[in-house]
Amino acid sequence: MRRAFRFQLRPTARQVAALTAMLDDHRALYNAALQERRDAWRHPSRTSVRYTAQAGQLSEIRAFDPDQARWSYSSQQATLRRLDKAMAAFFRRVRAGQTPGYPRFKGRNRFDTVDWPKDGDGCRWDSDPNHPTRTRVRLQGVGHLKVNQHRPVRGTVRTVSVRREGRRWYVVVSCADVPTEPLPATGSAVGVDLGVASLATTSGGVHYANPRFAERAAGRLAAAQRDLIAVEALNVGGMTRRARARPDPDAPGAFLPNGQGAKSGLNRNILDAGWGVFLNVLHAKAESAGRVVVEVNPANTSRTCAACGHCAAENRRTQAEFVCTACGHTAHADVNAAANILRVGLARQAAQAA
Ligand SMILES: [Zn+2]
Repeated sequence: MRRAFRFQLRPTARQVAALTAMLDDHRALYNAALQERRDAWRHPSRTSVRYTAQAGQLSEIRAFDPDQARWSYSSQQATLRRLDKAMAAFFRRVRAGQTPGYPRFKGRNRFDTVDWPKDGDGCRWDSDPNHPTRTRVRLQGVGHLKVNQHRPVRGTVRTVSVRREGRRWYVVVSCADVPTEPLPATGSAVGVDLGVASLATTSGGVHYANPRFAERAAGRLAAAQRDLIAVEALNVGGMTRRARARPDPDAPGAFLPNGQGAKSGLNRNILDAGWGVFLNVLHAKAESAGRVVVEVNPANTSRTCAACGHCAAENRRTQAEFVCTACGHTAHADVNAAANILRVGLARQAAQAA
């Protein structure tokens, strides 16, 4: 798995000056590249400038500007790529019919990071696993910087970033092939339903209510002694997840409230964000703990009886109450759904093992 490690740097006064100059020059490059894109966009022909065209000018810039020539070519490419991403996000929103603000020039306090896409290219992570106090990171144009390495770095260092936060400087190394730390397996499994009344509900009957605590809930869930965690798959962006129309059994042609109201507008956006954070954190934490997360298709999980398998819209009496019209099984509707999600998850895992 991939993982990032973050450490504080201990630069000398001379190195702080060099780091600051490095940020300033990368910021100037970013702003100049943005200016070129703006000019092209404002031109009546509405031409667009691409990353390759901008990166192609780097050699020339370095040839006539000795300040820019001090720094790594690769970190300058990374800065141009960062602008390219911001522009791509801008145009994506324009195409989606939104009116986003055009990407802005970066002021001195708005540009804090320089990235090196590859260890050994303009930067070098220099550490001895037996002597972590001797760890240094060498940056082109800055020199050898002391790293306050308070814990070991595992895996293979792939990318290096340096970041200014207030008056402090940090290095972030992103590593590949980091071994996972398995927790003792207990043979148990859990299903998770994502809902409106509660952000998440487990098959064990635990409700995680508040979307604001999505991150903590996911962490707690992943840390619990579980082998398998089955969650419902959300559509990308979660935007197409909709409550179904529910016919009223007592009045043909009429429909019962189905929570659709709660699943619209701002409420929905907050829920979508909460579910997204929950799933992201769950995947990350579960991976590092050696847990398996399976995402299952949630179709029918809210109206199928977890006890007998009878599937009918009428089973779901209210948002919270599930009463099976075939066997009489009664449960909290979200707990019933979570149990179905677990069953589907276990079946999928068994099918994959076979
Ligand atoms: Zn039943």
